Amino acid sequence: MANCIFCKIASGETPANVLYEDDAILAFADINPQSPEHILVIPRKHVENAAALSAEDVNLVGSMVAAANKLAEDRGIAADGYRLVFNVGRHGGQAVDHLHLHLLGGRQLGWPPG
Ligand code: AMP
Ligand code: ZN
Repeated sequence: MANCIFCKIASGETPANVLYEDDAILAFADINPQSPEHILVIPRKHVENAAALSAEDVNLVGSMVAAANKLAEDRGIAADGYRLVFNVGRHGGQAVDHLHLHLLGGRQLGWPPG
C-alpha cells in the first residue's frame, strides 16, 4: 500500500535491520526500542491490524507468533520470558496501520501497561 512505512520495509524500499524473512513475513528491529530486545514481526501483505484479519489471514498470525518465538530463542531471551503484543487502534496505542507483532524482552516488563 502506498505511503505505508511497513510495506516499504517489506519491499526493501526503506531500510531496516531485518532479522528474519520468508515469503510471507518479515521481522526487524524496532527503531525506537522499549526494551533491550524489541523486534517487530509483520506480514508482507498489508493488513491494517489484528481487528482487520480475514479468515485467510489466520495462518499468517500463527506464522508471525512462531517466528517471534524462534527469535526469542535465538536471541537468548526465551528462558526468562518475553511479551508479544498487538496494539489495535488509537486506544490500543497503534501508530502504524500495518499489522505488526511486538516482541519485547531482555528485562522485567511492567504490568499493567500504561
Ligand atoms: P505501534 O505503536 O504498535 O503502531 O508500533 C509501531 C512501532 O513501529 C513503534 O514501536 C515504532 O518505534 C516502530 N517503527 C516506526 N517506524 C519504524 C521504522 N522505520 N523502522 C523500525 N521500526 C519503526
Ligand atoms: Zn502496509
